[in-house]
Amino acid sequence: MSTLTTYVYAFAEGGREMADLLGGKGAGLAEMTRLGLPVPPGFTVTTEACRIYLATGQEPLGLAAEEARALAVLEQAMSRTLGAPDDPLLVSVRSGARFSMPGMMETILDIGLNDRSVTGLAKASGQERFAWDSYRRLVQMFGRTVMGVDGDLFEQAIAARKAQRGTRDDHDLDAGELALLAEEFKAIIRRETGEDFPQDPAEQLRRAVRAVFDSWNGERARVYRRRERIPEDLGTAVNVQAMVFGNLGPDSGTGVAFTRDPATGARGVYGDYLPDAQGEDVVSGVRDAVPLDQLKVLDPRAYVELGDHLRTLECHYRDLCDVEFTIERGRLWILQTRVGKRTAEAAFRIAHDLRAEETITADEALARVDGTELARLMFPRFDTTPADMPLAHGVAASPGAAVGVAVFDSAEARRRAAEGQYTVLVRRETTPDDLPGMIAAQAVLTSRGGKTSHAAVVARGMGKVCVCGAESLTVDPVARRFTTDTGVVVREGDTVSVDGTAGTVHLGALPLTASDVGRALETGESTGPLTEAVLATLAHADSVRRLQVRANADTPEDAARARALGAQGIGLCRTEHMFLGERRKLVEAMILARDDTAREQSLAALLPLQRADFTGILEAMDGLPVTIRLIDPPLHEFLPDRTELAVRLASSAHPDVHDRELLAAVERLHEQNPMLGLRGVRLGLAVPGLMAMQVRAIAEAVAHRLDVGGRPHAEIMIPLVGTVEELRLARTEAERVLAEVTARTGRGLDLPIGTMIELPRAALTAGSIAEAADFFSFGTNDLTQTTWGLSRDDAEASFFPLYLEKGIFSVSPFETIDHEGVGRLVELAVEAGHAVKPSLQTGVCGEHGGDPESIHFFHRAGLDYVSCSPFRIPAARLEAGRAAV
Ligand code: PEP
Ligand code: MG
Repeated sequence: MSTLTTYVYAFAEGGREMADLLGGKGAGLAEMTRLGLPVPPGFTVTTEACRIYLATGQEPLGLAAEEARALAVLEQAMSRTLGAPDDPLLVSVRSGARFSMPGMMETILDIGLNDRSVTGLAKASGQERFAWDSYRRLVQMFGRTVMGVDGDLFEQAIAARKAQRGTRDDHDLDAGELALLAEEFKAIIRRETGEDFPQDPAEQLRRAVRAVFDSWNGERARVYRRRERIPEDLGTAVNVQAMVFGNLGPDSGTGVAFTRDPATGARGVYGDYLPDAQGEDVVSGVRDAVPLDQLKVLDPRAYVELGDHLRTLECHYRDLCDVEFTIERGRLWILQTRVGKRTAEAAFRIAHDLRAEETITADEALARVDGTELARLMFPRFDTTPADMPLAHGVAASPGAAVGVAVFDSAEARRRAAEGQYTVLVRRETTPDDLPGMIAAQAVLTSRGGKTSHAAVVARGMGKVCVCGAESLTVDPVARRFTTDTGVVVREGDTVSVDGTAGTVHLGALPLTASDVGRALETGESTGPLTEAVLATLAHADSVRRLQVRANADTPEDAARARALGAQGIGLCRTEHMFLGERRKLVEAMILARDDTAREQSLAALLPLQRADFTGILEAMDGLPVTIRLIDPPLHEFLPDRTELAVRLASSAHPDVHDRELLAAVERLHEQNPMLGLRGVRLGLAVPGLMAMQVRAIAEAVAHRLDVGGRPHAEIMIPLVGTVEELRLARTEAERVLAEVTARTGRGLDLPIGTMIELPRAALTAGSIAEAADFFSFGTNDLTQTTWGLSRDDAEASFFPLYLEKGIFSVSPFETIDHEGVGRLVELAVEAGHAVKPSLQTGVCGEHGGDPESIHFFHRAGLDYVSCSPFRIPAARLEAGRAAV
């Protein structure tokens, strides 16, 4: 079958709409050519050619002929021939994927030089040194990139030559020495590969194009793609372009320019210029560039012309653009343009300014920023990129930056906090027992667990910096120290810095910068151009979003903070967090109760405490919905550790009776798989009086709030339901208590009663469950755990890195909702639930509720709200708005 596929496009034939095929760089070059900007002519080999080559190991049929034709056109445009012995045409061969992957793939310059054309270039340019320097660069680059020679061998040869000459600067080597270097390089290639550096320009070109294709699968590129979530199968385009030279003397040079400041977003052209240099000198930073302003003095004509082109580009792309340019003997050439990368701060300011200038609409401005950037701006951060190697990498579980002394248990964190010290709580993993220490500490660091481990969820809820699953650390809480894989020992009291945004831990105190944006989001007051841009963008997101945003909060303080950050209610109030600390003794007594009377007594003691909790939360969220989930975790979590208790008993001469009873209870409640055991609704049905006590506390709190003129909107939520029968029984019990409190208080307490959907069975039978539910709230942490059969506490630390490495996961399913599996269950349940009960309210309260990408999925799935930690609320509002435009 014959094919009409085109694999090669001249710049004049392409355009920016062809970025999939031509890559970002190729599309930009084509677009600039179309706009009439001075672009050295050239052509692009498509990503499709690359994909075929990578799949089959062979260039697609017809590619060589197309390349030859495009080259002939290029030669004609330049009135020169590739590699001709006198005045040769030289070309660059550069990678250019759909998404920018700076420095990750290969570039080969000066293709076309050989033993003969180098003298032609010397003559034509009048610069012998320049010609030989270009040649030795080509041999070096080609040898390393195309022929696979170790780059250090060339560097060593250069160093030896410089040492012989008594200099450290490449510029001191003269034409003769550079010619000798080129010879040495060729000898290295012959020695290392058994092959000669190819003298035929056409062969150079063909092999260079292939090497760029191959570099798509280089180690660097693969790691980068995984981190940036760029699909593996896109392939790269290859741009072949006539060389222009910035290193031909003082009237030449090269630089980069931005249409606005990419660091701050401030208006005004910005960039660097390096006189008498090649582009790679700017990138490698071997010589110091001067601010672009100085070009005004050095070459006023080129400066004005560059300014005009930058304006044209920004107007055309309607966004910040950056360009690479070269001035060859006073003539300006634009070598590349793209919509420029920018910091989070610049992203908000530029989007806001472009909207104010009426270049883009408010919806477009919203689409130009994202929740991850907003989160980055909300927290304190280290104000330098730490140059030192981190002690360890872990999961970036809760963003921000914190400095403190390492402590190894909760008590020490509290003791030092009471003395005014900043601490970092270091544990293998945390349990509810560590909560006081987590509250007292500035940051939490664990060696085990992933994004939905206890440490991560709780720290995120508190807005506390957290790095978890730093597996290379060996934490020894008894010796009160941790050891890194390189043998560094950090003892209690040593200062460490934790970067929860990057997921790293550093020795010593790195300098911190506070966040104006965080403050502005809580107060609603702008203090400068950045906070103004953030508040205005968020206001627009609020005006367009369909999804409501609620908070996961279980204290009045968190509720108030969440409200200040824009929460429209509470989507998950975890009541078990109210059973810790002093109250634990009461829970313990309830578990150990020998008879109904004893159990009722301990429940009666818990009742007023729970009521007070709920009253406070309902007050903080007055007028807004508050979804209160009945107790969920297995009871043994409220009892001491089995091993510790057994050791204590065994080593005591007079074992405590209470301890004995405790151990018996711990053993009775012990389960091999507690996450799949007696928890959630099962617990409510199995422990007499527990559910009734909680519902009574809620009902009485609501009645009290009504008495004092409040507008409470409590909703009762039953966790871990697998079948409608469980929900029916729980509902009957809850309604009985509500009726009883209604009768006693005279207040109408017709509270909505709903369920969490956390088990595949619940999702698959959502139609019948909906008959007994007023709302569904998707507990996607457990739903992910049970759908995949992956422990949310262990899996991320153990084989996740391997799975990410092998591309089985592109991201943890505990972080971003798995659309096809868990997400499909959500869609099915929403559909089935609405079919039975159109008024059924649906939301999500798992950690995915605060994840930008997942929020877009929930918008499409038709949920009513997402619920997330208070500190993720602004980002969730923003993303819910972005999902709607
Ligand atoms: C969930 O499972 O998604 C959920 C919100 O409940 P928890 O994290 O408390 O198990
Ligand atoms: Mg759950």
